[in-house]
Amino acid sequence: MNHDVIVLGAGLAGLAAARDLSAAGADVLVLEARDRVGGRVEQAVLPDGRLVQLGGEVVGRAHTAYLALAEELGLALVPSYVAEPGRMARATAEGVSAGEPPHWFGPGDEAGHRRVTEAFVALAGTVDPEDPWSHPQAAALDRLSVGDWLRSEGASPAVVRLWEIGQLALASGSYERTSLLAALRKHAAVPGAGAYDYEDWEGLRVAEGSATVALRMAAGLGRRIRLSAPVEEVAVRSEGCRVRLAGGETLTAGAVVSALPVGPLRSVTVTGVSEARLASLHRQRHAVAAKFAAAYDRPFWRNLELNGLSECEGVLGSTWPQSEGVLSALIPPERYGVLLGMPAELRDQELLGDVARLYGAEALQPFSCYLRMWGTDPWTQGYVTQWNPGDVMAVGPLHGTHEPPFYVCGSDQWVAGYMEGAVRTGRAAAREVLRHG
Ligand SMILES: Cc1cc2nc3c(=O)[nH]c(=O)nc-3n(C[C@H](O)[C@H](O)[C@H](O)COP(=O)(O)OP(=O)(O)OC[C@H]3O[C@@H](n4cnc5c(N)ncnc54)[C@H](O)[C@@H]3O)c2cc1C
Repeated sequence: MNHDVIVLGAGLAGLAAARDLSAAGADVLVLEARDRVGGRVEQAVLPDGRLVQLGGEVVGRAHTAYLALAEELGLALVPSYVAEPGRMARATAEGVSAGEPPHWFGPGDEAGHRRVTEAFVALAGTVDPEDPWSHPQAAALDRLSVGDWLRSEGASPAVVRLWEIGQLALASGSYERTSLLAALRKHAAVPGAGAYDYEDWEGLRVAEGSATVALRMAAGLGRRIRLSAPVEEVAVRSEGCRVRLAGGETLTAGAVVSALPVGPLRSVTVTGVSEARLASLHRQRHAVAAKFAAAYDRPFWRNLELNGLSECEGVLGSTWPQSEGVLSALIPPERYGVLLGMPAELRDQELLGDVARLYGAEALQPFSCYLRMWGTDPWTQGYVTQWNPGDVMAVGPLHGTHEPPFYVCGSDQWVAGYMEGAVRTGRAAAREVLRHG
């Protein structure tokens, strides 16, 4: 069967691309390896009807493509955990503290933190997020890790530790292995006074559940989506593209939009595009992370005047309240191996121990827990894109670009991943397909 366009992957990017193509009258088919749509957005329903987000969850004011799509789909945006009253907690081997400054800070550290934050924000102002390669010092900034840059700016070990605990809370890879240019690019894409503005990046959530964004798009596409259809080979030709599924079935189309994460894409044989195109796509890497969610009857952390938000040096990197009584948590790449190396049936207790250290013994008694090991999920192989020193230059300016009739989208093709990246690049890919007819 021949189609105008075949879209690979029914995550937010693939669905957003297919939705716009279909609305413009194109005959589109979406091929999805799993037996569900959504990819890295997924939700479970508790017996009392509350939804639990197991993947992508919150967005920010600056995520304009995602916000516009949610509005088109008739979904409501409400304040996320940032509106929760109380103080944030930090847990390290020495102890747990709430609010600012962190318990390991000494004299001069607060001023030092302010100084390097200002220097970082100023330097980010010199980077074009659409074209970081054009920066006069691009290669040098890319070679340097954020950790090394902080020390070169005179940051004390206590200040470096604060930046690192915050970065591990986001689970996108240690600042000791993050390119300074990539971090500056991310900030330049969503500028703010701090190094990472929680309101701009995470201040909102879809009231109906973030996975509902994917489900609504899929409902509109109906039979144009084929589930349990893993793609193994793509042959790109101007006179027509061929897509082969596991099992041998072959489909044809005038154009192919790849909306696959960079890990699984490496296992798909793609021919008919330039070596440079493939090398750039295959060079990108992912942070390998897991998400844990624990559902309780009530938000008991409020009794301690805490808001449920935390940054931790345990196995968990962070916690935050995703909705009334439901706590989310991330396990960063650096600690993922701790979970892999232990019996699966003990993992929940290990993680609940970290939560109890923050919020007390009630944390040990959730009525439901969910642990989603995204880093070793075969159809994701990660969590969000990770930029080690040297990676921005190695991936190069082909990042996020197309080679018609082969188009590329997905959160990995935007600055720093996120649901915004998926929607933004998915819709942009659809526009490009339509522009080329
Ligand atoms: C735990 C976690 C928490 C997150 N939290 C947030 C957050 O709070 N806010 C935010 O903005 N972002 C967050 N993200 C990131 C965000 O969810 C993702 O960046 C985004 O959903 C990715 O969308 P995508 O369409 O690019 O890729 P995906 O959702 O990964 O979709 C790709 C699709 O391709 C399919 N596929 C893979 N291989 C094949 C194949 N060979 N053939 C056919 N199909 C294939 C996959 O099954 C998948 O459905 C989080 C991600 C995770 C994992």
